[in-house]
Amino acid sequence: MARRERRETAEAAEVVDQARVSTLMGLSGEFQAAPSDVEQVIEYLSFYGYLPSNLLALGTVSASTHLSPAIAQLQSLANLPPTGELDALTIELLRQPRCGCPDVLSLELLSDPQPLIREMTACVIGYVPNVPKSVQDDIWDTCFRNWMEVADLKLKRTLQQAGASLVITSRNLGGPSGVLAQCHVGPYRGQQLQLDMDSSEGWNTEVGMEEVGTHELGHFCGLMHSKGLMAPFYRQGLSKPQQVDDIPRIQAIWGKPVAGPTPPPQPTPPDPTPVPSGFAKHFVQVEVVCKDLHSAKVVNIT
Ligand SMILES: [Zn+2]
Repeated sequence: MARRERRETAEAAEVVDQARVSTLMGLSGEFQAAPSDVEQVIEYLSFYGYLPSNLLALGTVSASTHLSPAIAQLQSLANLPPTGELDALTIELLRQPRCGCPDVLSLELLSDPQPLIREMTACVIGYVPNVPKSVQDDIWDTCFRNWMEVADLKLKRTLQQAGASLVITSRNLGGPSGVLAQCHVGPYRGQQLQLDMDSSEGWNTEVGMEEVGTHELGHFCGLMHSKGLMAPFYRQGLSKPQQVDDIPRIQAIWGKPVAGPTPPPQPTPPDPTPVPSGFAKHFVQVEVVCKDLHSAKVVNIT
C-alpha cells in the first residue's frame, strides 16, 4: 500500500472511530449502544438508503454529518422524535420486522419516461407454506382489490408467467421475523417486476398475509415507504390503504378509481350463524421487507 493510501486509510479509520464513539455515547453524551451495534446500525442505514452504500467501506462515516441526520430521518418516518440519537426507542425500532424495500430512493430511480400501463396481471409462481393455495389465491385477489378500490388501475391474477406484469414468489428471506417480504418498486411500465414472500414466516398465524401482500403491492404500484399502510415496520391491524397518506399518494400516480357499472342486486343472505366465543377472529398485521432486492431493483429499473 502506498504511503498516501496508508495515511488516508488511517485518517478514515479515525473518522469511523470518532463516529463510533459519538454514536455509542449518543450525541448528547449518554451511553446507549453496544460497540457491536454501531456497525450494524451503519449497515442498516446504508441498506435502507439513508446513507450511501459505500460509506462504511470507504471509512468516511461522520457522526454529525452522516449518522445523526440519517437516524433523524429514520426516526421521523417511524413517528419517533427526530433527535438523531441512537436512543433505546430507536434501537428497538431497528430490531423490528420490516419491509426490505429501501426507505430512501434516489430520484433517478423514480423517474422513468415510459408511460404507465393500467391493466396489469400477476402470476403466483411460489406459495408460502402451511396455507392452502386456494386461500392464498383469494388473499391475493383481496390485496389487488384493496388498491383498485382507491386508484384507477386494474390488477388481476393470471396463470401465465410469461408476459405477467408481476411475478409473486415465496423464498427464504433470512429467517422468521426479519424480512417478511419484498417487492420491486413500480409503477409498472412494461418490465416484469417481482414480489417475494418470506417462506420462513408463520403466515396467517403470526404474520397476516393480506396485510403484507397489500403493502408489497403498494410498492409494485409505485409507492415508497411512508406513514400509513406503506410504513416499513411490522404493525398490527392495518391492511387497507389509509386516507391520510396512502390514498392521496396512489391517486397522484394513477388517479381516482373510475366508477364501474352498478352491480346487480344480490339476494339477501341468511342470518349468520353465531360464532362461538372461542372462535374469535384473530387478526395479525404486518409490514414487510426484503434484502437483496436492493441491487436487483437498481439493475432492473435504471
Ligand atoms: Zn415496504
